[in-house]
Amino acid sequence: MFEPGVDFARSLDVADPLAHLRDRFAFPPSRHRDEVTYFVGNSLGLQPHASRDAVVAELDKWAERGVRGHFESDRPWMSYDESLARAMARIVGARPEEVVVMNSLTVNLHLMMVSFYRPTAERCKILVEDHAFPSDHFAVESQIRMHGFDPATALVTVDPRDGEETLRRDDIVAAIHEHGPDLALVLLPGVQYYTGQVLPMPQIVTAAHEVGAMAGLDLAHAAGNVEMALHDWDVDFAAWCTYKYLNGGPGSTGGAFVHQRHLHDPSLPRLHGWWGHDKATRFEMKNEFIPIPTAEAWHISNGSVFAMAPLVGSLALFDEAGGMGPIRAKSEQMSRYMDYLLDAQLAGKVESITPRDLDQRGCQLSLKVVAAGVDGQAVFGRLQDAGVECDWRFPNVIRVAPAPLYNSFEDIHRFVQILAESLS
Ligand SMILES: *Cc1c(COP(=O)(O)O)cnc(C)c1O
Repeated sequence: MFEPGVDFARSLDVADPLAHLRDRFAFPPSRHRDEVTYFVGNSLGLQPHASRDAVVAELDKWAERGVRGHFESDRPWMSYDESLARAMARIVGARPEEVVVMNSLTVNLHLMMVSFYRPTAERCKILVEDHAFPSDHFAVESQIRMHGFDPATALVTVDPRDGEETLRRDDIVAAIHEHGPDLALVLLPGVQYYTGQVLPMPQIVTAAHEVGAMAGLDLAHAAGNVEMALHDWDVDFAAWCTYKYLNGGPGSTGGAFVHQRHLHDPSLPRLHGWWGHDKATRFEMKNEFIPIPTAEAWHISNGSVFAMAPLVGSLALFDEAGGMGPIRAKSEQMSRYMDYLLDAQLAGKVESITPRDLDQRGCQLSLKVVAAGVDGQAVFGRLQDAGVECDWRFPNVIRVAPAPLYNSFEDIHRFVQILAESLS
């Protein structure tokens, strides 16, 4: 099905229905070679040209209209987040009223846990994965302490088996059942940041609900990467950042999801601010809080327009691509092509710890150098010297993530050739 030569890579690019989108992004110049191979969209996605335009437009609006910018123009600051939330809902498989664009990821995890982690003496545990992103781990630990419990007993994990890197799906479900009556919350990633493994999100939610626990997802590495159906899966809440696969720029405003069935529950505790208050009466400045009947009720402060503006440009590209379906189709083809080249040229020298099954992986491939006498970190250094932007995660993984919106099949071909040279 694939062929080894660069001509074949170019023929895949010619046939790629998303290939034209590459020109919509700014590629940083390679530090060492003519062509940069940008494979770190899992860390910071590239800048869409339209994002720069959107930021400049808001600077101009501020200069030209001052305070009137809150209410004037086709995108007044007052409601700046609303169209972004609708676009984001399409990307994560949510209803429009279930998504709010606000804050950043860890902050949103905290705000969601205020509502959805309500421990009692009998049921106080949170289940996370053993290798959770440190920020998530810190957030969960501090939530447990705030409620007067001890993370030593209330924080429980599901771990890969000895000698294995990824979590077995059955083990995740078994861990949820094992802690069942003690579990208040299951908080797991959609895509694991280190291994690139896609976790079985719908099964996790079902298992959590079976034991009477809430199910929350961290979608940092899943949003804009894999297809999801948060509403249909019955996820209780989710949060994500927008600077990875969503290309929103450093520190861009994050997203949060609250399932529709929780939106009208007055018993749910929530931290309030004026931006979650009914829009029609917000500026009457009365002290009775009337929640917006959407996920926006969780919004506390007026949003940072300059941290949202890049998303106007970047999220439009997701719609232009035809949504996550075509993006995911290209991503799968890229994965198969990468596997083919690595198998053909580097078997026994480099191993992937990312599951091979397409159902269990997104864009990212986490590679370990296993060639005898070759140091992985030195190989990583040589890749960088040769113009490959990728990243190193301790203890010994090189993460590469071809992003379907702006990477090409030729990028993958070039990467594998450079990797082969770096090993010899
Ligand atoms: C990227 C990432 C974060 C970063 O959190 P911020 O609050 O946006 O700084 C947190 N958790 C996971 C799993 C991530 O991948």
